Amino acid sequence: MADAGDLVGSDVASILKEHFGFRSFRRGQKEAVESALEGRDTIVIMPTGSGKSLCFQLPALHLHGTTVVVSPLIALMKDQADSLRERGVDVATVNSTLKPSELREAEQGIREGDMEFVYTTPERLANPEFRSLLKTTHIDLFVVDEAHCLSQWGHDFRPDFLALGAHIAELGRPPILALTATATADVIGDIQQQLRMPDPRVVHTGFYRPNLALGVVPFREESDRVRWMTEQLRDHDGTGIIYTSTVKAVGELVEKLGSQGYDVAGYHGRMKASERASNQDRFMEGSLRAIVATNAFGLGIDKPDIRFVLHHRVPATIEAYYQEIGRAGRDGQSAFGTMLYHPDDSKLQKFFQSGRYPSGEDLVNGHHALKRLAEAAEPITVAKLRAISPLPISKLKVVLALFVAKGVIKEDRGGVITLLQPDLSNVELARAAGSYRERQERDRLKQEQMV
Ligand code: ADP
Ligand code: MG
Repeated sequence: MADAGDLVGSDVASILKEHFGFRSFRRGQKEAVESALEGRDTIVIMPTGSGKSLCFQLPALHLHGTTVVVSPLIALMKDQADSLRERGVDVATVNSTLKPSELREAEQGIREGDMEFVYTTPERLANPEFRSLLKTTHIDLFVVDEAHCLSQWGHDFRPDFLALGAHIAELGRPPILALTATATADVIGDIQQQLRMPDPRVVHTGFYRPNLALGVVPFREESDRVRWMTEQLRDHDGTGIIYTSTVKAVGELVEKLGSQGYDVAGYHGRMKASERASNQDRFMEGSLRAIVATNAFGLGIDKPDIRFVLHHRVPATIEAYYQEIGRAGRDGQSAFGTMLYHPDDSKLQKFFQSGRYPSGEDLVNGHHALKRLAEAAEPITVAKLRAISPLPISKLKVVLALFVAKGVIKEDRGGVITLLQPDLSNVELARAAGSYRERQERDRLKQEQMV
């Protein structure tokens, strides 16, 4: 867009004004922009709603080449791409929701080198053909948004993020800009290590949100929780989120609050996609008093006037809590977050955590299935593994992601897997699982901290 010669300064200020319509930078933005323009690896840690997107969008517009943005959430990607396109920027989005004709068009744009931005998902980047296409362009900035997703300590851990470091290396290792609102040392350490950044600049603005009033209300009786929620809806104006921890509790709360005449709707991962989308739309329009949700709701929700976030149960970690309450009051007006606490709440979380990480046995099972297919000289695919191993698909995916990260397997064009290390012993596999077990223990400690 501008001359690559004059890096920072008046040029950047004018893009800020003319392109984004902002008079000044917010805290941390200028440092992040400058660092990216200097070609340094950068980790940006800023609270939700503080303007992380600008930290990569502005340098991207200044740089000549293409900026690749990996983002975990397609809705979030779409919002950003739409608003850039409205301002005349060439953006390709490549993800699983595209129709074949749209995909062809996006790929054509990338091939012709016209794109200022390519927004995509870690899943798509795992596709070698897509990576080959990206290799034909000059990528001068690689962005990983919501980067806590690649940390096993992060509350939104996504196994597909684990291979990102390798993929970025394959793409010629452009400078990386990773952004997150999660600031624990574990998460930051993982981001740095997974993305293979030896010496990143870290821009960290702190977390204080002066317009949020936070509180905890202890409870003994279950029925008191609903009464209290009802009073909150009665005594306060505006729209909010009520977080609870199970699909079942979402249903019950929607029914109880609804029967008292409050306009609420549910949101959870097991709902029909159309119902979920329509409930979310009603929430975004402001026609609901509250959306009652599991932690499936929220990433990428950009509604500035959320006035309250109520926790019906204690979230799993302080970081999850911070993300969830952080969705309130992004317009800077006062908002509140209140959490109900019952001594039994933490038991429920422990139950959830027990199933998250693969055990030594899971790794042995997964490796055994890989070996059987390899010995039968059959092309190995996830579907075939699924058919012959006792692992549920979610576990199988975590196991495969771990194997990719440890170089045990690699995935080729069209999702065909090659077993690179057929001779691992059960002891070695159990050791690999041991590192996951430690994490499980850490999760438990995190819950204790939260309590
Ligand atoms: P985050 O990714 O940190 O949650 P976003 O990038 O989505 O935050 O930005 C949140 C809001 O802040 C957006 O509405 C954006 O337009 C606004 N914003 C970002 N930077 C500035 C700025 N320098 N001045 C004014 N508003 C800004
Ligand atoms: Mg963001």
